[in-house]
Amino acid sequence: MSDCIFCKIVSGDIPATVVYEDDDVLVFMDIGPIIKGHALVISKEHHDPVTETPDELLAKMHLTAKKIAAAQVNGLGADGVNIIQNNGIAAGQEVPHIHIHVIPRFGEDGHHWNWAAKKYDSFEEMAEMAEKIKAGL
Ligand code: AMP
Ligand code: ZN
Repeated sequence: MSDCIFCKIVSGDIPATVVYEDDDVLVFMDIGPIIKGHALVISKEHHDPVTETPDELLAKMHLTAKKIAAAQVNGLGADGVNIIQNNGIAAGQEVPHIHIHVIPRFGEDGHHWNWAAKKYDSFEEMAEMAEKIKAGL
């Protein structure tokens, strides 16, 4: 895709600090890290969103994220790792080319997800949501 920033990184038209690559995936440093060491695993071929990405490629991307997570623990001394994948503007996705965030975490790194758990009005409401998801399978 000619106007896709991540495709331009794959083609070399935009520079990136590459950590790992093979025939299918490219891993580079996120230019705006949540925590220093934050890396992105992308597919070399343009795909988006996750539901349109070929299974085998998606599996390979996730195995690569696992490899990078281990490297952040071994190489950076990370105490933990967040692995995140956003799909759609509503989900906070900015770059519409599939990518997995791999973010090293350290005991006192000061980052807190704005993750406020909500409550269902009733058990039935939760069960209704589950039925709708099941109907979508
Ligand atoms: P998302 O919100 O999931 O689409 O995340 C897109 C990520 O891409 C953000 O964390 C950006 O900081 C990162 N990003 C955007 N442009 C570049 C770039 N040229 N090089 C490295 N990372 C980038
Ligand atoms: Zn692209």
